[in-house]
Amino acid sequence: MIKVTIWNEFRHEVAQDRWGERCREHYPNGIHIALKQNLASEDLLIRTATLADPEQGLPDELLNDTDVLMWWGHVAHKEVSDALVDKIQNRVLGGMGLIVLHSGHKSKIFQRMTGCSCALHWREAGESERVWTIDPAHPICKGVPPYFVVERTEMYGEPFGIPEDAKPIFISWYQGGDVFRSGVTLQRGLGKIFYFSPGHETFPIYHDPNVLKVLSNAIRWAAPVMPIMADPLSCPNAVESPEPLPPYVF
Ligand code: ZN
Repeated sequence: MIKVTIWNEFRHEVAQDRWGERCREHYPNGIHIALKQNLASEDLLIRTATLADPEQGLPDELLNDTDVLMWWGHVAHKEVSDALVDKIQNRVLGGMGLIVLHSGHKSKIFQRMTGCSCALHWREAGESERVWTIDPAHPICKGVPPYFVVERTEMYGEPFGIPEDAKPIFISWYQGGDVFRSGVTLQRGLGKIFYFSPGHETFPIYHDPNVLKVLSNAIRWAAPVMPIMADPLSCPNAVESPEPLPPYVF
């Protein structure tokens, strides 16, 4: 059983304006609830958290019981406390998987884990996006077609300010002609990280079967393969030497 926590800033979907109405057409209970429902599987224990929850949604009991953290944020990145970002970073270094979605590219935690600006350029024109699978052998691409189309999307374009070790898994082309590394993997410490850009809040992208397949695969890929280290920054003193090797005999 993989313990997944879907964290959502949850601001757009409750806004009392036209923007909020557009979001609620697709996500009446929030993006986090839609993802939880659409990713439900017998081998996943999925919990949700939002910024407005106590301790910004991630008290120690929950964070320390999370194998894979999924993160959607946009307008409130700065409100996430640095102390919480420290804890999440530590948990990732110890082995927790981290899946950063869409506008989470500018989240404190993604910038922290990459050490980069994570900047890009964008255009909201409702154009279509063709997502190309460029590493069909990667576990995240299992069962994903050579390409799929997101009918209406927000364009995210290059240059994307991510580190050179970010490995592209998907590349997107947009109707306007822009291209973008829309799915990349990283590892920091023992933790695996996946960034995936499709997921603008006013379009039903998290109901798209191909997008859900990618995220479903990403959860399994990012899940830790060993117990998560509580203190990955420790440098233990190796007091005891390993067993000496027997002398070499010619
Ligand atoms: Zn967006």
